[in-house]
Amino acid sequence: MNTVEKYKKFVITSMVDKIQPVVIERARGAEILDGEGKTYIDCFSGISVVNAGHNNEKVMEAAKAQVDKLIHCASYIYYSKPTADLAEQLARIAPGRLQKTFFGNSGAEAVEGALRLAKAFTGRTEFIALQASFHGRSYATLSVTGNSARKRRGAPYMPGCAFLPAPYCYRCFYELEYPSCRLRCARALEDIIRFDTADHVAAFIAEPLMGEGGIITPPAEFFLEIEKTLKKHGILFIDDEVQSGFARTGRMFAIEHYGVEPDIMAMAKGIADGFPLGGFIAREEIADSFRPGDHLTTFGGNPVSCAAGLANIGVLEEQNLAEAAVKKGELVRTLLSPLMDRYSMIGEIRGKGLMIGIELVRDAHKTPAASEAGRIRDFCLANGVLIGAGGVYGNVIRIQPPLVISETQIRGALDVMQTAFQKVVSSE
Ligand code: PLP
Repeated sequence: MNTVEKYKKFVITSMVDKIQPVVIERARGAEILDGEGKTYIDCFSGISVVNAGHNNEKVMEAAKAQVDKLIHCASYIYYSKPTADLAEQLARIAPGRLQKTFFGNSGAEAVEGALRLAKAFTGRTEFIALQASFHGRSYATLSVTGNSARKRRGAPYMPGCAFLPAPYCYRCFYELEYPSCRLRCARALEDIIRFDTADHVAAFIAEPLMGEGGIITPPAEFFLEIEKTLKKHGILFIDDEVQSGFARTGRMFAIEHYGVEPDIMAMAKGIADGFPLGGFIAREEIADSFRPGDHLTTFGGNPVSCAAGLANIGVLEEQNLAEAAVKKGELVRTLLSPLMDRYSMIGEIRGKGLMIGIELVRDAHKTPAASEAGRIRDFCLANGVLIGAGGVYGNVIRIQPPLVISETQIRGALDVMQTAFQKVVSSE
């Protein structure tokens, strides 16, 4: 039996429409090799994970050295140096006064714990999140996820979750235009608190750039407006940086674009360049509100993942990959802009740094062109380029390559994308 046959027989895959038909065997930087020796330019990073590049030399070395010493010790029962060292570095690079980290293994676990901490600190029990958001696949994280497509067949969810219209300017839920809207969506928070909650809100949770929603990019003042209302009501702000963190958007954390300070921040994906690790970091007084027995996980703070995470931060900083994300993101946009003029199907190109979304629409009514997005992704794959297709309407092409991608690779990938548009649009 080959790998695909074994997947069919032994791996649960019924929850995915289609696994991309490629068996990935090895990878380096932004290049992936399949089992037959075919190479691909990776523009999706394993869903925005390998920011420092696949199998980054320094990250591998650090992980291998740690494997030789110690793989697991239960980092909350005993002390472990890599766990302490990584937490120290996270406190240094995290925005504002965020200082103490709890480590888990995934994004969902990071968000779940952040919600739990917000409850512990405030003594309150409710949450407000954004429509079109995504925060993970566990019970609590799905409860604050604003997308029925992810929640189907799982109801009922955690009570006490209210939703604010997303800052999705291209499809403004109020049918207004930015900036004359004066951020109607952010101003709605006051009403949501008043009419949709019991005024017992522990935290507001949001992604600074909404990845799974379709790289929805809030306007510049959105979080400042939100912050005013949160402060007035003593509500914490949980910043979900699981997808946008670690230099991807041109800053170490995407919330830095918005000039507000989170109270708790969730991290995963890009934290250790592919090693499974997640965590949340909080201001000291918030972090210390857990009491004995309140929270724990066996693998959290795993020494190998933490050693990889530490090396990863070193690489991001030494190579100034945040700045690289800005420059390379500009190149992608420059190469995409003639396509925008040529194909009316491209409704909007948005994002920051190397977190870029292209929203595809069929007509002037902005009917989502979801099957076209899927066909463009499939064409790219068949021609050696990996991209994502997603968004709440399934019609957003996602370009999120490793930040070490070269200019030649960007140009090569964009050439293929251009042909993909030509083929898909001309076959309509
Ligand atoms: N939060 C955000 C913003 C995400 O994009 C994701 C995953 O895509 C998660 C949380 C969940 O992360 P994980 O899949 O590691 O559980």
